[in-house]
Amino acid sequence: MHSPRRSQITIGRLMALIAACAVVLALPHLQSVTEFKVVACALASLPLFVVCNALVEALFGIQCPGCRRWSLRRLVLNRSYFSCSACGMRFKRFGLGPWLDASGPDDDVKYRGKSQSRTWTGFTVPRDPGGTTSGDLLRNKRLRERTGEEAR
Ligand SMILES: [Zn+2]
Repeated sequence: MHSPRRSQITIGRLMALIAACAVVLALPHLQSVTEFKVVACALASLPLFVVCNALVEALFGIQCPGCRRWSLRRLVLNRSYFSCSACGMRFKRFGLGPWLDASGPDDDVKYRGKSQSRTWTGFTVPRDPGGTTSGDLLRNKRLRERTGEEAR
């Protein structure tokens, strides 16, 4: 997998930067209303592209960088973290940045879910319920269970 430092500049980012520079440099040279309309329509289509991208992601999923299947899903609580339901690999991506491996121990907490509770292994059933109300209820329950077993 790529390290975060080496993968900061991608060909996609470079092309987006070149396109943005071309639009900025072309703006002073626009001469007719039609040219302004074309540029305005092109810029207005960017939010439409973002909405369509979100719709495709919701309907079909995201293509997994590991197995190339459309089975990558976002985590609900951490929107920058993804998990593939086909190959089980874990990835993270911040903004339009590169896909990064999220299988390390640093990222385990993101995939653990909301609850951090674990099974209580130290519990033992109390022998003497005591003289409290809950103790009386427990003693009565145990007595009924014992007499129910003898009646069978
Ligand atoms: Zn996969």
